[in-house]
Parts: sequence; structure tokens; C-alpha cells
Amino acid sequence: MRPIGAGVCSICGERLFSSYALSSPDTEPRCGLCRRIDPAFARAVAYGSYEAGLRELIHLLKYAGVRPAANVLGRMLAEAIAELEPELPADPIAVVPVPLHRTKLRQREFNHAELIARAAMKLSPVPGLLRLDAGVLERKRETLSQTGLTSHQRRENVRGAFGVARPEAVKGREVLLVDDVYTTGATVSECARVLRRAGANKVWVATVARTLKASDQHVEIQLPADAVDSEIPSGVQDIRVARAVGI
Ligand SMILES: [Zn+2]
Repeated sequence: MRPIGAGVCSICGERLFSSYALSSPDTEPRCGLCRRIDPAFARAVAYGSYEAGLRELIHLLKYAGVRPAANVLGRMLAEAIAELEPELPADPIAVVPVPLHRTKLRQREFNHAELIARAAMKLSPVPGLLRLDAGVLERKRETLSQTGLTSHQRRENVRGAFGVARPEAVKGREVLLVDDVYTTGATVSECARVLRRAGANKVWVATVARTLKASDQHVEIQLPADAVDSEIPSGVQDIRVARAVGI
């Protein structure tokens, strides 16, 4: 359960390859995806990598219904939110958990993202800055499990799945969207898109965990021994990531 270190995309938090991260003069480096598409959210932060202990803890809450796990996960989320705090406005910010469809909510009896958000907010160093607005977003239709879908399929799967039930709660305000795991960003991107369309000024994203594609497998690309970083084509990073995830 290790926190994600430096050398990550300044927008989505994806791990960057050291050659890019170290050589780039850019103080706000972006991964290949965030350079191609401008995400609807301003920045996404996560506490740790979605593996081993952290994954088990999230599963304990979501699938085994062990609610006290939300307190531990909330502490982690609070650490992730702390990274955003220098950039957050002084006015209260609407904290919006990614909602479940009502059928799933009935089955599970709680929205895990909301429980984690509530636990994290208790630890906020600035009382009153974070205000839970759980009913702002609604999941209008049930979606397939995102597990096993490609990045493109995930985006298709969630397109149009969310709606803003109370636009007046977000119009002209900044929003902090909260979920348990950031995988490809498809879900939070879709939520951020509808929140922005409803008038939110900015959408920030905080999750407990994040999958780091580049760490799934170690992939090497042979470059000439005398290649300097400025000669490495900009697409190399994308090719590496695509191969690492088997696209
Ligand atoms: Zn990125």
C-alpha cells in the first residue's frame, strides 16, 4: 500500500516514464492521453496504486459490506485531497460522490464512494470548505461492469449514464468528485463532463486508488544507444503504454 510517488501526469496522475519525466522541461508534464484530449476535469489525484492491500480493503467495503473499512479508506482519501488543497478556492466546494444506480444501491444498501467521502471530510483541515452534495449527480441507467473492457469500451459504456439532478447546486461552483478507484478515467470524465455542462466552474477528482498501467508489465523499447531524450518521438510513451496493457 504505497503512495504514488513523483513522475506522474499533472492532470490524471498516470505514471510517466522516467526518461520523459526527468528530461521534460515542462513543470506540469502530461501523459499521452491528456496531451491528446483535454479532460473535462482539472486534475485527478489518488492516494495509492490499486494493488494488493489497497484493492483488498476496497473489496472489503464494496463486496463484503465491511463498513468500518470506509474510515481507513477515508483517511487515505483525505491525504489525496490534501494534495489539491493549495489549488482549491476559499469558498465551499461541493463534494460529489460518483453515484450508484438505484438498483445497485438497493442491493448494496450504501454507496461506498459516499461513505469514503464522508470519512475523509471529517479529517479536512479547513472546516466548512468541503460540503457533501450527494444528490447532485444521478446514475440514470445501469451500466455493465467496467472490468475487462478496453478504454474505448469503458467510455462508450458510461456515455449518457449520468445526469445532474440539481444543477443549482453546482452552477458557478467548483466540484470535488470522489470515487474509490480511477482506472481509465472513463467514469469520472463522463461525470465531470455533465457537471461542467450543468455550469460547474471546475471539477477536481480524488480517488483512493489508481491503476497505473505502466506498472502492469515492464516493457522496453530499444532505442539507439546514442539517442538523446529530445530525439525520442513523442508517441513512444503511448506505444509503451499500449503494449503494456495489450492493446
Ligand atoms: Zn494524464
